[in-house]
Amino acid sequence: MSIEVKGISKLYGNQKALNQISFKVEKPEIVGFLGPNGAGKSTMMKILTTYLNANEGSAKVNGYDVDTNKQQVQQSVGYLPEHNPLYLDMYIKEYLAFNAHIYNISKKRIDEVIELTGLTPESHKKIGQLSKGYRQRVGLANALLHDPDVLILDEPTTGLDPNQLVDIRNLIKTIGKTKTVFLSTHIMQEVEAICERVIIINKGEIVADKKLKDLRDEK
Ligand code: ADP
Ligand code: ADP
Repeated sequence: MSIEVKGISKLYGNQKALNQISFKVEKPEIVGFLGPNGAGKSTMMKILTTYLNANEGSAKVNGYDVDTNKQQVQQSVGYLPEHNPLYLDMYIKEYLAFNAHIYNISKKRIDEVIELTGLTPESHKKIGQLSKGYRQRVGLANALLHDPDVLILDEPTTGLDPNQLVDIRNLIKTIGKTKTVFLSTHIMQEVEAICERVIIINKGEIVADKKLKDLRDEK
């Protein structure tokens, strides 16, 4: 359930996207990673999911190092990227079965994640027939297939209408009761609605790391 980041820096060419980032998450909680566009959120998430290598520092998920134990890290994390590529012409079950097959996951687990993410009433449909909110559920179902301890969600509610927003936030809250959820957003209300802790990033640097409870007391 843990994430441990120490002195991570990342350069794109000579532009520093992350500068000496450090933080720890040690228990199942929902942690918001808050910052404006371009702050470095996606870059940090790609490093934690092993899709990108840092230039400096170290990061561990569930004690596994992202550089030297990529496979174990991937088994420990479920990732929903900001622009999750979904195959619109595929049926939901087909899409999940395709990914389940790659990772050797049982058919039974597909039904479980469909149930877990509230997809049951729509489960006979093609992804292309779903609303944006339901497509996000498919993304979440996919991220949960291998029952990871840590869920990394990049801007999971961007572009949802108000009803879908409430539904997806509630779903994330439910998931966060048993897993560590690390969620990026540029919206403070999102943090207030679902997170127990917030790490604020700006221009590649962490500017605050607080419990929501303490933040409320300060107000
Ligand atoms: P956020 O997710 O907070 O919007 P990103 O991590 O996507 O921020 O981006 C951080 C900075 O790094 C931005 O200035 C962005 O333009 C830059 N950046 C991100 N990806 C690349 C890339 N592949 N090549 C060059 N610059 C990039
Ligand atoms: P995300 O927010 O999921 O990283 P983006 O739309 O920001 O997606 O970026 C899409 C792709 O372009 C990503 O692979 C990202 O790394 C890359 N990218 C983002 N910003 C830049 C940039 N300034 N220069 C080059 N590539 C970039």
